[in-house]
Amino acid sequence: MSTHDEAEVRAELRDWLRAHWDVNRSLVAWRNLLVDSGWGMPHWPRAWHGRDLPVALLPAVEEEFEAAQAVGVARIGIRLLAAATLLEHGSNAHKARFLRRILTGEDTWCQLFSEPGSGSDLAGATTRAHSDSDGWVINGQKLWTTSAHHADWGLLLARTDWDAPKHSGMSYFIIDMTQPGVEVQPLKQMNGHASFNQVFFTDAKVPAENLVGKTGDGWKIAMTTLAHERRNADALRRWGHASPYAGAIYDQERAEIATVMEPYKWYPQRAGRVDLIMSRARETGRLADPALRQDMARLMMLSRSAEWLAHRARQAKVAGKPEGPEGSLGKLVASHVARAASHVHTLISGADAMLAGADGPHDGLIAEILLSVPATSIAGGTDEIQRNIIGERVLDLPREPRMDSGPFRDVPRNPTRGR
Ligand SMILES: Cc1cc2nc3c(=O)[nH]c(=O)nc-3n(C[C@H](O)[C@H](O)[C@H](O)COP(=O)(O)OP(=O)(O)OC[C@H]3O[C@@H](n4cnc5c(N)ncnc54)[C@H](O)[C@@H]3O)c2cc1C
Repeated sequence: MSTHDEAEVRAELRDWLRAHWDVNRSLVAWRNLLVDSGWGMPHWPRAWHGRDLPVALLPAVEEEFEAAQAVGVARIGIRLLAAATLLEHGSNAHKARFLRRILTGEDTWCQLFSEPGSGSDLAGATTRAHSDSDGWVINGQKLWTTSAHHADWGLLLARTDWDAPKHSGMSYFIIDMTQPGVEVQPLKQMNGHASFNQVFFTDAKVPAENLVGKTGDGWKIAMTTLAHERRNADALRRWGHASPYAGAIYDQERAEIATVMEPYKWYPQRAGRVDLIMSRARETGRLADPALRQDMARLMMLSRSAEWLAHRARQAKVAGKPEGPEGSLGKLVASHVARAASHVHTLISGADAMLAGADGPHDGLIAEILLSVPATSIAGGTDEIQRNIIGERVLDLPREPRMDSGPFRDVPRNPTRGR
């Protein structure tokens, strides 16, 4: 297609769906067709399973799929971060080997970045990769790895040069998660869920061809993955809903979504559930309390302002404008909203807010909110780190003094960490 006219794109897609959508195909067979046609990821390049369409036309494409009740390619989970990173930095061999199976949903992925001693200080990672005759050998530990327990492949950031400065001594690998040297242990959180894992590598192997970019490019490539992670947060929610229709292909999609979304099922609670505040105040008879009403009003104003900020960021993106300060502000504001909502839920429910399970209000949902909200101030960069970013990059304040230049081997670190 040479044109990007919305009506023509819709008409062409409608024709294609009419000719090809078949509820009796298997999910993988259907998705292979979608990959061949470019309609699964129409904003991707033509050379790699796309149609070079502008991102602004994606909602129209989505609507046509919904109208035809047609299933899309696999679009949820960390596999999409893998795809975005490989599209930008992977070799043609990486793209040919991995992209199709990401879109058909046959492979799942996880992101092996954070470590026990390097969360905020991600560039301080000490998981090591040393080269041998067959490629690379990995030793070390990762932490907080969402979905590692069912991942086929991992995006791994590991240190390859201890004499280079911190940020330039790391490399980026694709690692097979199903091999013997990779041990995945789930972590139980205080809200009762187990969404994350710690992952131990003991002489795990990475073949030479699974290095992404060049040795020493790890930091730059990891930044691409993280930028997509921030931008994709909305897509994760939008596409995390299964189709309500009857049929084997829908059942297969529902099973996939249930598996991939399982670690995220408490995420609405970690955002504070502002949507429940009014109904909770009504059902508990607390709506008339003048002091509580003040707190509720403050929360609603903050929450609405945060929505408008996010809306402004989305509109700027659709209009093709460069990313402004909204991303960093939005993350920090989300923490404030979540904490304020948790506080108001506590005021409304009183001591009952502490009751978990069937004993608590809404079958323990309010307790789950209180126990999940602290994660908002940590995940994806802590509030303190967001303030540093806003101070240095948005307000142009003097940068924090750095103590970590020079060879990484000599950078002062917690003595329990490897050298
Ligand atoms: C719900 C959730 C999901 C997550 N998902 C993933 C995931 O999928 N993949 C992944 O790799 N990681 C994930 N993480 C890990 C997350 O990125 C880290 O927990 C986070 O970056 C903080 O790192 P840390 O836990 O090592 O804390 P630390 O970095 O040790 O920080 C401890 C405290 O020190 C403060 N601090 C640190 N440095 C500074 C500084 N320079 N200035 C001021 N204060 C500072 C921090 O703000 C914090 O209060 C997740 C975390 C959570 C809670």
